[in-house]
Amino acid sequence: MTAATSLQELRLAECMSRLGTESAFEVLVRARALEAAGREVIHLEIGEPDFPTAPHIVEAGAEALRNGWTHYGPSAGLPELRAAVAEDAGRRRGISIDPSEVVITPGGKPVMFFAILALVDRDDEVIYPNPGFPIYESMINFVGGRAVPYGFREQYDFDVDVGEIVDKLTDRTRLVILNSPHNPTGGVIPRASVAELARALAERDLFVLSDEIYSRLVYEGAHTSITQFPGMKDRTIILDGFSKTYAMTGWRLGYGIMRADLAQKVAQLQTNATSCTASFTQIAGVAALRGDQSCVDNMREEFRRRRKVIVEGLNAIPGFHCRQPHGAFYAFPGITGTGRASKLLADTLLNEAGVAALSGTAFGAWGEGYLRFSFANSVENLQKALDRIRDCMKNL
Ligand code: PLP
Repeated sequence: MTAATSLQELRLAECMSRLGTESAFEVLVRARALEAAGREVIHLEIGEPDFPTAPHIVEAGAEALRNGWTHYGPSAGLPELRAAVAEDAGRRRGISIDPSEVVITPGGKPVMFFAILALVDRDDEVIYPNPGFPIYESMINFVGGRAVPYGFREQYDFDVDVGEIVDKLTDRTRLVILNSPHNPTGGVIPRASVAELARALAERDLFVLSDEIYSRLVYEGAHTSITQFPGMKDRTIILDGFSKTYAMTGWRLGYGIMRADLAQKVAQLQTNATSCTASFTQIAGVAALRGDQSCVDNMREEFRRRRKVIVEGLNAIPGFHCRQPHGAFYAFPGITGTGRASKLLADTLLNEAGVAALSGTAFGAWGEGYLRFSFANSVENLQKALDRIRDCMKNL
């Protein structure tokens, strides 16, 4: 009997048909297949710092392994790290956070998964950014919620239109998702807009999921968290973590900050899902927060240098126009001038030019007309990619 005949028809739960994905990982697989076939690809698709984790953090993790931090820990996270996060995140935002309000997770991503699972019932409405991190829409649909998009639009310099969000609030709105600095546009919601939003949301029976994973990567001015405004801290779940700030994507270490009763429920979800976050990575996390921060500052300054290279380079390519991102490490050029649809152009650049980028539509339907380039790559590679794109566009 062959393996194929022994397989039953795969009958999945109905909710699986509504689960989306993050296509950065799919493009990475395609790019790696091209490399395996002998092609050279410049990777501007995946959103992770190309820097190594700072040596003092690596050493703290290695020492933790040697010292026996190799066992299960509490589902909500190690008390040492919860305390360090409460202190650091509170100080940076000018708010008071108790360790009981912190849940440590394997990366920041599970915070969106757990928060949406914990708060959103079937037919509840969730207002979320489009274009935006694809997992928001995926998870809203997965739990049977209604996904209500709002834009980060180029004409507003990739800020939000607060009026648009407010107009979409209804009695069924359960959650509003914010993300600043914003993936994929690099937009940063200015303080005045955050304040206006806070005024509109503070009296309502809803939660805000504030994805602040890029909060240490702001190039102009300071990061504003909606938790800084009256009435908002207890209505907000902050998502943050170590992946982008400390170049620790593969360590899988992040956290959510939320009122303590909700934190307990999220920890219970974690008990059901993963039991806990790896213990030795949490010890490394304490070292990251309590140690020298120059690794963060140096990385941001290097990204600032690269931002100039990629924005100027993209603006010099016929059919492309690119605003300067104010945060994160993504350029989001408009490409309608090329006459090509986003997905087709992204595929062409990968296959013809060996440059891996993402279609704006990887971040939702409202990303059509754009591409996303991560500038977490060396200036030399960025320049090479820009040359290749320019040549490729000439030959189309
Ligand atoms: N939120 C946003 C907006 C992101 O871009 C990412 C990663 O790309 C995450 C959350 C998840 O980060 P982590 O790798 O810590 O799970």
